[in-house]
Amino acid sequence: MGYPGFEAAAAEIVALSRSFHARGWALATSGNFSSRIGEGAMAITMSGRHKGDLTAADVMIVDMTGRALDPPSARPSAETLLHCRLYRRDPRARTVVHIHSPHATVLSRLAAVDREILLEGYEMLKAFAGVATHEHVERVPIFANSQDIAQLAREVEAYVEEHPSLHGYLIAGHGLYTWGEGASEARRHAEAFEFLFECELLRRGAR
Ligand SMILES: [Zn+2]
Repeated sequence: MGYPGFEAAAAEIVALSRSFHARGWALATSGNFSSRIGEGAMAITMSGRHKGDLTAADVMIVDMTGRALDPPSARPSAETLLHCRLYRRDPRARTVVHIHSPHATVLSRLAAVDREILLEGYEMLKAFAGVATHEHVERVPIFANSQDIAQLAREVEAYVEEHPSLHGYLIAGHGLYTWGEGASEARRHAEAFEFLFECELLRRGAR
């Protein structure tokens, strides 16, 4: 691929995908990963690719509307618009990760009635960018799952616009979206959420 930055972005995506698959957070073809390249494009996983076997050949480039740029005939992840809207609303975001971990999936179903989860009282909250104290309260919204990704992307975008300090969100019965200034921050956020979701499940006696 001729896009400058593609190789480095694809290598980051492959590393994230394989490590999250190994932990059981992106089994089979679930989950998707992207990395911004310049201002107008991103590298993102192709649709339907197994996340444990991912290679750079399973990563493509799309523009910020989700249109395939390279290869032009490849099909990006079905949830590409969720990545596009997030990058549009949070200029700091360089990497977006989406996983279907059992903890995120189950907790999002238990708490779906509340439409949000409040994570508070945990030292681990300091793993989130800009958080310096365990007294922080992390508000995690839960959106209803939908196959209408364009509509879901509009809902998420409106929420992120109102809550710019957000670090992640859940889709009920589906999984987690989180992001970071780069791949290592996005991975740190995913790990922190995963730990906190497991703690919440233990605390609620649902394990
Ligand atoms: Zn998904």
